[in-house]
Amino acid sequence: MKLLNEIEAHLVINELERSYPNAKYYLNFKTPIDLLVAAIISAQTRDEVVNAVTPEIFRRYKKASDYASADIKEFTQLISKVSFAGNKAKNIISTCSIIAKEFNDSVPDKPEELMSLPGIGRKTANTILINAYGKVYGIPVDTWVIKLSYRIGLSGEKNPDKIEKDLMKVVEKKEWARIAYVLKAHGKKICQSKVPICSICPIKSLCPRNGVSKSK
Ligand code: SF4
Repeated sequence: MKLLNEIEAHLVINELERSYPNAKYYLNFKTPIDLLVAAIISAQTRDEVVNAVTPEIFRRYKKASDYASADIKEFTQLISKVSFAGNKAKNIISTCSIIAKEFNDSVPDKPEELMSLPGIGRKTANTILINAYGKVYGIPVDTWVIKLSYRIGLSGEKNPDKIEKDLMKVVEKKEWARIAYVLKAHGKKICQSKVPICSICPIKSLCPRNGVSKSK
């Protein structure tokens, strides 16, 4: 499959930025610990469902040490509308116990420290660093980034770590913080999962899959 060169990738990103100026991170939060908890809850769960359950959790638990001492049954019940609620409750409580004990009750702001926590991989670490701390070390690669990077020709890889490396080569660093949200906005509106609407796509003149992609 044809991959875009740096100039083409730049044009694509610019056009998508112009088309989705209000694209932003999709989970509601006020503090780094809110975001960490919401991000763990969000795995394989729609954003609307996460945003519906988190207000009550954020009202009850303010710090990592609050989550660390939560009753697991009660907490699982609070997030029972999300998939794998029991596992996520266990992960949140154990992650927050480590943060409370080893990081002075503050969510770490370094990638390697975040990724040492249970349930926190590269995507979530990048998400927390960008959105809670304004620190950009990499690009969060979620399912929309995986799908659209391949379709648009920004990466020929399927593995999230390799996709992130490819994106970091062709996307200017100033765009790293927003690229995931811009791609998601484009995926939801036009480059939809099953049937992309190529005829009205703002990047159709550059996209190698214009009129071709139906399901990949
Ligand atoms: S041209 Fe079609 S496949 Fe390419 S980005 Fe646009 S909607 Fe997606």
